[in-house]
Formats: sequence, structure tokens, C-alpha cells
Amino acid sequence: MILTRRNFTLGCAALGLSACGGTGAIVSPAPQTGLPADLRPVPNAGYDAWVAAFRPRARAQGVSDATLNTGFRGAGYLPGVIERDRNQVEFRRTLEDYLSIAASDERVTKGRAALNRHRSTLNALESRYGVDAEIITAIWGLESFYGERRGNVPVISATSTLAYDGRRGSFFEKQLVSALKILQNGDITASRLTGSWAGAMGHTQFIPTSYDTFAVDFDGDGRRDIWSDDPTDALASAAAYLSRNGWSRGTRWGAEVSSGAAEGRVIQPQPGGPRFAVTRNFNVIKRYNNSDSYAIGVGHLADRIGGAGPLRGSFPPDEFGLTKRDRIALQERLTSRGFDTGGSDGVIGPKTREAISAYQASRGLPATGDPSVELLRSL
Ligand code: CA
Repeated sequence: MILTRRNFTLGCAALGLSACGGTGAIVSPAPQTGLPADLRPVPNAGYDAWVAAFRPRARAQGVSDATLNTGFRGAGYLPGVIERDRNQVEFRRTLEDYLSIAASDERVTKGRAALNRHRSTLNALESRYGVDAEIITAIWGLESFYGERRGNVPVISATSTLAYDGRRGSFFEKQLVSALKILQNGDITASRLTGSWAGAMGHTQFIPTSYDTFAVDFDGDGRRDIWSDDPTDALASAAAYLSRNGWSRGTRWGAEVSSGAAEGRVIQPQPGGPRFAVTRNFNVIKRYNNSDSYAIGVGHLADRIGGAGPLRGSFPPDEFGLTKRDRIALQERLTSRGFDTGGSDGVIGPKTREAISAYQASRGLPATGDPSVELLRSL
């Protein structure tokens, strides 16, 4: 069975501890600039013992001793990976909030520029795999902000830490074996085998097993390089992923529909909000990330990149009785009074809540951090 990339988190990181000797000695850690301290290896005897026991299992699956030695040189237990895994909050955003972020003005503008910059590659991919240039660009934008956020956590350390931890041990052990095979195949050097704390790699955030199955060498240099500054292989790999999961050439993902009858399946992810008629390609996008919001985010961002305007339908007021316009006004007024909301995107996140609390405190009010109609009026 094919795993969708994001149903699981994995971790990959390759630095720090010698995993072989079981002594916990730090061996030539690779230079890791920009990584927080908790994403650098710390001595952990249990981890070392786990790696020693893992090696014969990896060898039985075709990973050579030389690859194991290379892969685990400088690798180690990353406490920050476990902390992030434990603290993952199942954060349910409304579709309106999700789209405010996924198809923000900045992401649309950068997407149009990225599409223009890589037009010839994207046209070639469209021709080869049948996936629209705008869809590929939108996935790139959502996964790594067009390559700006590819992740620099070493994949061997992250996946081995999560495999050792055991909460989803067998899944991460599979990812670790696949990651080692990436090294063995010579697609990338150990120091460049990096990704998110959960092991999603490169421009299009492939987990190692997805990479193994779907990544392609489109520029023909003999390596499937989804990490390079040049996104060609990564974009091709995303197109290949969709194609091999059943993408139908020439079919839209779906479209917003007005209240009348519509062809095909109609969904309304947020009660009272816009409705969308979706096609089989919508379900193919969900193979990338199994979420209606994600698939609508990709489709809508692709439409915006292609020149379309915002959604026509409106969303109902939120749980505090505020519309997006109200929330933007709230953020703008707080900001103008010196309470920084980190921008005015209409999404009430931690920064806006902090600003509300600070404002409330400054007025001698209980600092709840909750927005409200009264609060907006008082501003
Ligand atoms: Ca290549």
C-alpha cells in the first residue's frame, strides 16, 4: 500500500552521536547552522543500544555496512524531535483561516513569480505527467514556500530517534531504512540528507518511502535530487506522485459553486461557507495530504496563481461573532496602538491573542486573549 506522505510524521536527522559503539561519544558532528539546540544530538545509551540492534535488521533489507557507517556517523538522539512529536496539537483551523494562510497574498504573488521563473520546466512536466503547472506550483508553495523552507534537520537522526522512541516505531523504522537507501543509491550526501523534524524532505516534503517510490531524476544527471536549490527534480517528483496516484490530464481539481445545483460531488467543509464541486483529481491531491482543506488550498492557490480572484462566497462569523473583515480591523487597530499582532491576516493566532491580552491588561481588563465584538468596538 502506498502511504500518503503526511498521515504520519517522521523524523530524520543525521548528526552528533556515534550510534555504533554504544559509548555515546560524540563523533565529528556535521556543522549544523541554524538548528535549535534541542535538534542537536545528545548522549542516550538506550538510543545507542537500539541502533546496534537495528543494524542487522537494516542489513537484512539490503543496507550495507558502509552505508550504515556513513549514515550514522555523527547521527544521534534528538530530544527536540520527541518533544515536537509529543506536542503536536491536532489543530483544527476553519477552512477560512486555512485559506487565509494557504492562499495569502504573499503566497499568491510568490507563486506567480515562481511559475514564471520555472515556466519551461513546469511546461515540460505538464506535458510529461499531465499535471497542470499551477497545481505543481501550488503544492510547492504549500509544502516549502517555494523552496524557502525545505528543513535542515538531519534525516537519519530524526527518523532513528522516532523509530527508537517507539510511539510509531515500525513506521519510522521503515522511513529510516528508506533514508539509508537514499544514501546507498548516491542520490544525496549524508550531510545534505535533511528535512523537517519529522523527516519530510526537500522542496515538496517527501518522506523517504514516498521518495523511494515516486521521486524522479528529471534533469538527467543520474541523481534524484529534491534538496537542491534547483527544484527541477522535486517538482517532477511531485508531478510523478500525482500522476501515479491517478491524476486525470485536463481535468480541473474542482471549483467553487454557487448555491444552485452542480455537477459532480459538492462539499462544504465549513458550515455556512462556500461550496465546492470536486473531481477525481481532488481526491488525488488528498493522496499528498489527506485533508479536504489541504486539497482545496492547493486547488484554490493554483487558481489564484493562474490569475483567478478570491473566492466569491463568504464565510459566516466565527465563534466570537467576528467576520474576517472584523478580525483584520481588530489586528490593524491593535497594531496601530502598539500591540503587535504579527500582521493583519484575519487569523487569530497566538501572536494576536498575546496582543489582545496585553491590550486588555493595559486597560485593567481580565487578560483572556479572546477577541470579541466589544473589544473591536473599544478599539
Ligand atoms: Ca537529477
